Amino acid sequence: CKQVFKISTGSANLDKLLGGGVESMSITQVFGEAGSGKTQIAHTLCVTTQIPTEDYSGGKVMFIDTERSFRPNRIRQIARRFHLSEDSVLQNILYIRAYNSEHQYQILKNVAVKFHEDTGVFKLLIVDSIIALFRNDFMGRGVLLNRQQKLAETMSLLKKISEEYNVAVFITNQVTTSMNNKFPLLTIGDDVKPVGGNILAHSSTTRVALRKLTGNVRIAKIHDSPELAEQEEAFTITNGGVQD
Ligand code: ADP
Repeated sequence: CKQVFKISTGSANLDKLLGGGVESMSITQVFGEAGSGKTQIAHTLCVTTQIPTEDYSGGKVMFIDTERSFRPNRIRQIARRFHLSEDSVLQNILYIRAYNSEHQYQILKNVAVKFHEDTGVFKLLIVDSIIALFRNDFMGRGVLLNRQQKLAETMSLLKKISEEYNVAVFITNQVTTSMNNKFPLLTIGDDVKPVGGNILAHSSTTRVALRKLTGNVRIAKIHDSPELAEQEEAFTITNGGVQD
C-alpha cells in the first residue's frame, strides 16, 4: 500500500498553505513572473526531500532543467543551512537537461523506467519549467492545438509517474502579463495569468501563484483549488533557500 507523504518547502508558512508541504502522488504547480521564486523553491525542495522525518524516509531527487536554471552552488548553500554534507546532497540529485519538448517527453519516459528499477529511491521529480520548451517548439496560433495535445500527453505521463511510483511532482510555469494595464506598478501580481491553458491548469493537483512583494519577500497564493482555501502566505528567499 502506498503511503502519501509531504515534503517541506523550507518555509512553515508555505507548508501550511499547501496543507503540510508538497504532496506525493500529486502534481504541484507554481507560477509567477521571472524572479518570483519558482526556481528557489525547487532548489530548496532538492535539499528538504533528502531529510527524513517521523513519517517520511527521505529520498533522491530528479531535476529536469529546461532553462539552465539549476545552480549547484545554491544547493550547497541550502545544504549548509540544514547541516547536511554538500557533496552527498548534490550526489542525490539526478540532473537532466531537456533541449526540446519531444526530448523532455522521452526523458520522462526514461524517468519512469528509472523509478521502476530503483523502487522507492526517488521521492521528488522537478520539471523547471514545464512549458518553456513547448512555447519554443510550437510558435504561433496555427500549432496551438498540436502543442496542447503534446502538453496533455506530458502531463498525463507525469500524473502516472507520481501515482505509480509514489513521488511528488513539482513543476514551474510561466505567466502572461496583460499589456493594457495603465498602472502596472500598482497592480503587479494581480494581472498575471498562468500559461498552458486548461490542460496545464486541470492536470495539476495544486497550483500556487507567486509574486514579489519587497526585497526578498514573496507572496504565495493558492489558485483555484478544490481542496485548499484560497489564502496567501509570505515567505523569504535567503542564502539558505526558501524560509519564513
Ligand atoms: P523564478 O521565479 O524566475 O524561477 P527564482 O526562483 O530564480 O525566480 O528567484 C530569483 C530571485 O531569488 C531573485 O530575486 C534573487 O534575488 C533571489 N535570490 C536568489 N538567490 C538568493 C540568495 N542567495 N539570497 C537571497 N535572494 C536570492
